[in-house]
Amino acid sequence: MEIRLFGDPVLRSKAAEVTQIDGSVARLCDGMFTTMYAARGIGLAAPQVGVRKRLFVYDEPETCGRGVILNPVLADSDGTWMFEEGCLSVPGYSWQIERPRRVALSGIDLNGNEVTVEADDLFARLIQHEIDHLDGVLLTERLDDDQRRAALSELRRRGVGAQGGGLFPSLGAE
Ligand code: ZN
Repeated sequence: MEIRLFGDPVLRSKAAEVTQIDGSVARLCDGMFTTMYAARGIGLAAPQVGVRKRLFVYDEPETCGRGVILNPVLADSDGTWMFEEGCLSVPGYSWQIERPRRVALSGIDLNGNEVTVEADDLFARLIQHEIDHLDGVLLTERLDDDQRRAALSELRRRGVGAQGGGLFPSLGAE
């Protein structure tokens, strides 16, 4: 599968709940794992491969292992943690971003069972990053104002996102 890059409108749209777990969803997840491993990532959300469904895959052996979460809902978060964060849809860049250190979420697994997850540090970071993707939010929106101005002008200077139907059509907040 092809990873959609910064500037692609699919990355700015809100994904829809998964209402039916069938073979196509399982195949989608298989394809997403393969794509994520090839890109050496630890998490990948469906919109990043152009599919507007609320699900993400992850694999981070040191902390959470491998899994799939469908229709995730953040239930709780606390603490703060600054961490250097990147995104497979903005390859080659990373920024210090502050987010809650711990989160709790609910969702369903590929068998349709309800799951709850409590996570901290890297896993919590990953979960928040991937849920943002399901809401059409990219990590550049999690930067503080100065960081975001610098980041966007750097991306613009390098022409990143310029192919996505006009230069930064929806980044208006700056
Ligand atoms: Zn990402």
